[in-house]
Amino acid sequence: MEPNIYQLALAALFGASFVAVSGFFMHFKALNLVLERGREKKDNNNNTEGREGDSPQHQSQSLSRRRSQVRRKGLSPASLPDATPFTAATDGGGGGDAGRTNGHVCVDEIPPGLPRLHTPSEGRSSVHGTNSIRKTGSFVRPISPKSPVASASAFESMGESDDDDNLTDTAGLDASYLQTNGDLPADATEEQISMAASSMIRSHSVSGDLHGVQPDPIAADILRKEPEQETFVRLNVPLEVPTSDEVEAYKCLQECLELRKRYVFQETVAPWEKEVISDPSTPKPNLEPFAHYPQGKSDHHFEMLDGVVHVFPNKDVKEELFPVADATAFFTDLHHVLKVIAAGNMRTLCHRRLVLLEQVRVLKFNLHLMLNADKEFLAQKSAPHRDFYNVRKVDTHVHHSACMNQKHLLRFIKSKLRKEPDEVVIFRDGTYLTLKEVFESLDLTGYDLNVDLLDVHADKSTFHRFDKFNLKYNPCGQSRLREIFLKQDNLIQGRFLGEITKQVFSDLEASKYQMAEYRISIYGRKMSEWDQLASWIVNNDLYSENVVWLIQLPRLYNIYKDMGIVTSFQNILDNIFIPLFEATVDPDSHPQLHVFLKQVVGFDLVDDESKPERRPTKHMPTPAQWTNAFNPAFSYYVYYCYANLYVLNKLRESKGMTTITLRPHSGEAGDIDHLAATFLTCHSIAHGINLRKSPVLQYLYYLAQVCRDSLLIGLAMSPLSNNSLFLDYHRNPFPVFFLRGLNVSLSTDDPLQIHLTKEPLVEEYSIAASVWKLSSCDLCEIARNSVYQSGFSHALKSHWIGKDYYKRGPDGNDIHKTNVPHIRVEFRDTIWKEEMQQVYLGKAVISDEVVP
Ligand SMILES: [Zn+2]
Repeated sequence: MEPNIYQLALAALFGASFVAVSGFFMHFKALNLVLERGREKKDNNNNTEGREGDSPQHQSQSLSRRRSQVRRKGLSPASLPDATPFTAATDGGGGGDAGRTNGHVCVDEIPPGLPRLHTPSEGRSSVHGTNSIRKTGSFVRPISPKSPVASASAFESMGESDDDDNLTDTAGLDASYLQTNGDLPADATEEQISMAASSMIRSHSVSGDLHGVQPDPIAADILRKEPEQETFVRLNVPLEVPTSDEVEAYKCLQECLELRKRYVFQETVAPWEKEVISDPSTPKPNLEPFAHYPQGKSDHHFEMLDGVVHVFPNKDVKEELFPVADATAFFTDLHHVLKVIAAGNMRTLCHRRLVLLEQVRVLKFNLHLMLNADKEFLAQKSAPHRDFYNVRKVDTHVHHSACMNQKHLLRFIKSKLRKEPDEVVIFRDGTYLTLKEVFESLDLTGYDLNVDLLDVHADKSTFHRFDKFNLKYNPCGQSRLREIFLKQDNLIQGRFLGEITKQVFSDLEASKYQMAEYRISIYGRKMSEWDQLASWIVNNDLYSENVVWLIQLPRLYNIYKDMGIVTSFQNILDNIFIPLFEATVDPDSHPQLHVFLKQVVGFDLVDDESKPERRPTKHMPTPAQWTNAFNPAFSYYVYYCYANLYVLNKLRESKGMTTITLRPHSGEAGDIDHLAATFLTCHSIAHGINLRKSPVLQYLYYLAQVCRDSLLIGLAMSPLSNNSLFLDYHRNPFPVFFLRGLNVSLSTDDPLQIHLTKEPLVEEYSIAASVWKLSSCDLCEIARNSVYQSGFSHALKSHWIGKDYYKRGPDGNDIHKTNVPHIRVEFRDTIWKEEMQQVYLGKAVISDEVVP
């Protein structure tokens, strides 16, 4: 029965993915050949079984001829989703062999005329020889000739599918995946898809008879306790040989990937080489996170030259220690990338190929779900203790000043008004005011306050209005309340904000499995900002095992210039980076900053990306020359922050200190060159929704994700936040990016403005799961991504997602920690490796380690 089944599913998906796209006739050909060869292989298997010495070669040829006759009669591409031709095809070819087949849809042979381009599972899926038959059986069930189920046709299976509700449900889920991603052809009904899916899953589950009896399929799966990664169904769809033009296009992509490798900071010695974790039990809590022991000053000498700090071994040596690409080189490379992603010829060359790869990848993922969803679910069920609630998930993108929800802030304000009415909290219009007086001046009492009056939630008025969204940070529309409750550099030295932050921390700790990376501002208006922030952190004892910090720099040069706070862009760079170098060279000079920096894992750039800006040229004025009234372009900010952080990190690494990765907001709105600049320089980005507008750049973000050689790039996406600001929820590319295999995580951005419940991160997952019909496996995979993207320590990551987490593919997955089945991880890894080989024309060198 097998040919029926996989043809049906392939056909449904085939129709889904390809029928509508008229330009894919070539691919039709390839897939038809695959179908045909797959069926031949079945027949080969069946015919050779029991007489292994026979040469299958000539049989396959004659069968092939028969098959193509049948196809010519009954099977034209336009009629693919129609079930009737399949009956004809099976009747013509399946014959008496049908009784021997099972869930094997491993179509790994190459159709005539198409050379083998990628063979990741070679050896494991070979069909020749005794040995290989056994191997095939190890991930495709052994064939049971007696099996009564196996002799049933696909249509009988469909007839029976009502019997088993859970299987039908799974199939429905798969069908909804297809719908969500818009890949259903107009003429394929949901019924057809789900019937195909359920029959495939069904046949697959039922085939597991090891002891001559027919056990309950699900129980059999659980009882068998086979390593589940060996029992999933693979599908290799061969790709075409690239033409010489396409080879040129691939070389352009290779160049871009190599550029990224050259730019992005990477530690010379990986954390797992420095610190081997033999006991992955809970790491001991840091009992004195803010202890500072004087450690003396190193000889390093540094100077700010043309906007970038240069470090020398000492005052007298003129040879710099950690050279970084200069601005001209960066803007030249940026223009090169922009040319690649925008050039007409690149688009023509690359577009078709990318769309094809994309379609195949989507097809493979949907097929993977159809064939393996039940296996994934079973694997999850059999992982003791673990489920979505107790896998670690990190909120990878959340602004500290909006980290509490509105109800929490309201309760806090009310309690302060009740308990500390006479605290002098602000200096306004020449007088000091107590908290009570502030509320009197606003004509408000504690009783009046409610969430609606607080008015911090995003609403219709904020869509496409970043300015209005920002005003929502003012409780009751009053900037003085923002200053009192949400600022750390106010008259009460941020005591209230410190207290509410501690409450948020203890909520997180109570949830145990939720972590957050809070983004807190440094503005670059004065050098003392760093020490002020660090002392606020230390004095309020703001430390939690569940929390690390990112620094966010609002891109507001033009405002400060207008206000006369700075004279050139160089002032801002000095204010941001000089204290960091001072604290690194001589920790005793800024002891609080030094201990705080141990908790700072990333650096962010924030502001409205949709503001119009001039595209930077290759030769930009230096930061000291930037004295005009205009804000520099996004990529200008990116370069100078990147270059200084790169040098800083090199210096810190050489002194055995922690490093700080660049993880800016990018691609939330605005020009596509934001995403090109961050592709070259950044560890990961927040948002990235504009990648939907550039297939080439999106493909680069896909490729540059996992390998130590190509460096992980993560997307911390916040669809609910986008829904309030820039993009309706139902148009968010998150589900498509996830399906395509980009390294995406879910994050909250601004719980104060957006979320309603006490657990904003779970709320974010919950809404995504409902709207996009994500399975438990999907949610756990996203949670696992979030740990990878985060800046938590090697010891914590080992504890949270497994001690081998830094290994690529299934070797790095521990289902007992992540609740992600190996087959999901292996599937992602296989597809990614295939595409890397495609782009590198079979010469990609892929490391076994990822960069977390
Ligand atoms: Zn944000």
